[in-house]
Amino acid sequence: KEKVRVVGAGLAGSEAALQLSKRGFLVELYEMKPKKKTKAQVSDHLAELVCSNSFRSNNPLNAVGLIKEEMRIAGGELILCADKAQVPAGDALAVDREIFSKLVEGKILKNKNITLIKDEVNKLFNDDIVTIVATGPLTSDGLAKDIQSYIGHESLDFYDAIAPIIDADSIDLNKAYFKSRYDKGSGDDYLNCPMTKVEYENFYSALIEADQAKAKEFENLHYFEGCLPIEELAKRGKQTLLFGPFKPVGLEHPTTNEKYHAVIQLRKENIHGTAFNFVGCQTRLKQPDQKRVFKLIPGLEKARFLRFGALHRNTYLDAPNVLDNYLQLVPNKKPIKNTFFAGQITGVEGYVESMACGLITAAIVANLLKNKPLNLPCETTALGGLYRHIRGTFRANTKQKYTPSNINWSMVVPLPKTNKKMPRAQKREALSKRALQNIKEWVV
Ligand code: FAD
Repeated sequence: KEKVRVVGAGLAGSEAALQLSKRGFLVELYEMKPKKKTKAQVSDHLAELVCSNSFRSNNPLNAVGLIKEEMRIAGGELILCADKAQVPAGDALAVDREIFSKLVEGKILKNKNITLIKDEVNKLFNDDIVTIVATGPLTSDGLAKDIQSYIGHESLDFYDAIAPIIDADSIDLNKAYFKSRYDKGSGDDYLNCPMTKVEYENFYSALIEADQAKAKEFENLHYFEGCLPIEELAKRGKQTLLFGPFKPVGLEHPTTNEKYHAVIQLRKENIHGTAFNFVGCQTRLKQPDQKRVFKLIPGLEKARFLRFGALHRNTYLDAPNVLDNYLQLVPNKKPIKNTFFAGQITGVEGYVESMACGLITAAIVANLLKNKPLNLPCETTALGGLYRHIRGTFRANTKQKYTPSNINWSMVVPLPKTNKKMPRAQKREALSKRALQNIKEWVV
């Protein structure tokens, strides 16, 4: 049997190890716990849920519910442990975290193909054995530094600073208009929401007053000017935003030429134009506050959030530029062999997405080692969408910094266009049905 390594026995690494063993490989699984823990970890067990005990919605009409159902169909192992460890939580799949961890650990310890090595890995192996690195958002410092030596510090970030993304269908186009600043670039890349002085001041007051998410001790970060949260910027004074993300110059109305007190720009998030993100509005406001405050912007009263803004410690690669189609590292500083990545370090976000990524990377690697062609989940599925997020396939603007994300509908190819506008619920049903059908074609 061929040997492979997996580094990190969290959500992605545990899933990857179990998948590889199922496919007949001998797996060496490295985990630094209990010798060394990150500041978020408290348990000595594998696959630890460091914060909430919820895997979020279990409803396949919701993108995160859909990806879970797809994993069940595609042979995911950790999702079965989650189902077994379930505790009542309405529409959500919440688990008893101890039971979940022990179920995963039990599967790994019982598995004759997997050897668990309780040690920290400080350097990428760079040898003839294929290695999947799944060391997560708090990858230990030594390893992070070593990864940087292959790809440069600009390709491995330590903080997520992201702006919310909203559904294009929920933007009122009677108020918002398409235009690039000074008409530079293509006309439909940016949507603009204009504001009068009164509207801006209302928004500003709400923003300043909104609760800020409590920073955990290890998240006490020094803000970089480029990723300053909008609420921090606003605290510098009422005018500051008008010279930053709310700058109105060059954004006069394209037909009336009207000038505005403030304009917030929304940038196309994917090539399909089904989602937009807020330019320069990375935020750490609590999610209900994000909804309340951003909905004060004219045209966004009914905005549907596909992803909320966030700012926290998160080690992640500039995956679209440093990983190839096999999620293998393609360094630009010095060569490396046989090094693949899985989990949150690739720029997916969350427990569910990380285990999904473990499943995808393991399936890709197993096929590669068996000399089979690259076999990916279809782009109409949530698993396929998550993979394409990592590859940056659907990014509308490839110059924009790659930011981590939860699974959301903007990652899934939309339904074919028809003349009739489909109600949202019906659309979700059709998307979900199509995905659950198509995931069956992914032979893993
Ligand atoms: P992890 O689960 O972190 O697993 C990585 C493993 O690698 C760990 O066991 C670690 O000990 C090990 N490791 C690290 N470095 C090395 C090394 N050099 N050598 C050997 N082993 C190593 N997601 C949610 O969905 N809901 C939440 O509520 C939530 N809250 C969070 C709160 C915090 C504070 C943080 C940091 C993250 C939170 N997340 C949450 C994100 C979630 O933790 C991740 O999405 C998920 O755990 C990532 O899975 P992973 O397998 O990629 O990494």
